[in-house]
Amino acid sequence: MSLANGRPYLAIPGPSVSPERVLRAMHRSAPNIYEGALVEMTHGIIPDLKRIAGTEHNATIYIGNGHAAWEAALSNVIAPGEKVLVPVTGRFGYGWAEMAQGLGAEVEVIDFGVRTGMDMGRVAEVLAADKAHEIKAVMGVHVDTSSSIRTDMNALRAALDEAGHPALLMADCIASLGCDRFEMDAWGVDVMVAASQKGLMVPPGLGFVFFNDKAAQKRADMPRVSRYWDWTPRANPEFYYQFFGGTAPTHHLFGLREALDMIHEEGLEAVYARHKTLAEAIWAAVETWGQGGPIELNIADRAMRSHAVTSLRMGAPYGTQLRRWTEAEAGVTLGIGLGMSSEDDPKGDGFFRFGHMGHVNAHMVLGMLASVQAGMSAIGVPYGPGGLDAATEVIARG
Ligand SMILES: *Cc1c(COP(=O)(O)O)cnc(C)c1O
Repeated sequence: MSLANGRPYLAIPGPSVSPERVLRAMHRSAPNIYEGALVEMTHGIIPDLKRIAGTEHNATIYIGNGHAAWEAALSNVIAPGEKVLVPVTGRFGYGWAEMAQGLGAEVEVIDFGVRTGMDMGRVAEVLAADKAHEIKAVMGVHVDTSSSIRTDMNALRAALDEAGHPALLMADCIASLGCDRFEMDAWGVDVMVAASQKGLMVPPGLGFVFFNDKAAQKRADMPRVSRYWDWTPRANPEFYYQFFGGTAPTHHLFGLREALDMIHEEGLEAVYARHKTLAEAIWAAVETWGQGGPIELNIADRAMRSHAVTSLRMGAPYGTQLRRWTEAEAGVTLGIGLGMSSEDDPKGDGFFRFGHMGHVNAHMVLGMLASVQAGMSAIGVPYGPGGLDAATEVIARG
C-alpha cells in the first residue's frame, strides 16, 4: 500500500507545476507560423514580459533553457578576453561564471559562501580597485536556487555606483521572475535573463533576455556576435521568424500567453504577496520543527531568503531519506540539495529544497509541510512540536 497514489505534486525548484490552463492552451495541432493567430499573439507577449521584468527597454525570446539565456546574454556583451566579475552566492553563480569562461572571458569570482549573502562593501572595493575599468560586467544571480539566497540587486547597483564603475550589471532572474519582486529599470539592471519553467509556469524550452540601451551600445561595440545569439534582430524583428532565429516555439508560445494572462488576472503585486506569505508559512514550520530537531533553514536572515525556493539542512542521510519517503509515500517530490556537499557529506544527503514558485497555493504548501512532518516521524528524525500549527497561523492571517 502507498498513500502516494493520487495527484502527484512536484515541489522541486523548477520545472514548476504547469497550470491546467497552460497545458490546455498548448494542447493543439501545429499552427501556421507565417501569419494568423500565432504571429499576432507573439507581438502581445513582448510588452507583457517587459511588464513582469519591470522594464521599458528590450525583451527577446530564445528557444532554449536557462543555460541558453545565460549564454545568449553574455554573447552579446562580452568579447573573448574581456573581464567579468561574478559575486557568487551558490551553485548557479558558478554555473554562469563557467559559461562566461567558456566564451573566453576572464572571470573573477568573489565567493560569498552559501549562507549569508553578498558583502556589497567588498564588491565595491574590488570594483574601485579596477582603475582601468577592465571589468566589463558584474554578473549577479538574483535568487541562487541552490542556496535560496536572494540578493538585493539594487544594492549591487549601488556598489557599482559607489565605485564609479561603468561595468554592465547583469542579473539572473531564472528562479525569481514572477515570484520575488524584481524591477529591472528602477534597480539599474542593464541585462536580465529568465526562463519559462519556474515562476512563469510554462514547461522548459524558452529563455528570455532583457536589455537596456547601455547594453545595446556594448553590443554595437562587439567585434562580432554569433547569429543565433544576436539579440538585435530578435528585439526589433522585421520578419516574424527573427523573433526566434527560425521556427517559432509554437506550443510554448500558446502556453506562455496563457500564463501571462493568469499572472495579469491575479495582479503582479498579488502574485508577489502570495509567494511571500507561502514562503513565510514554510519558514514558520521549519523554525518551529528546528527547536526540537536537526532541520534548519539554510538562510538565517529573513531579508536574504527567496520567496520562490527554500534550501534546507537536516544532516546526512536524513535529507535524502526524507525526499524518498515523501515521494514514495505521500506523492510529494522535494528538490535535491545542490552545491552543498562537503567532505563529511560528499553527495549532499543532508540537504534538500522546497520549490514554491509559480502555480502554488496554500493547500499545496500545507500539504507538502504536513507530508514532510509525517516523513520525519516515519524515518525517525526528531522535530519540535507545533510546526504545522505555526504554518497554518501564517496562512490564517493571510
Ligand atoms: C534553473 C536555474 C538556472 C538554469 O536554468 P536551466 O533552464 O536549467 O538551464 C540558472 N539560474 C538559476 C538561478 C536557476 O534557478
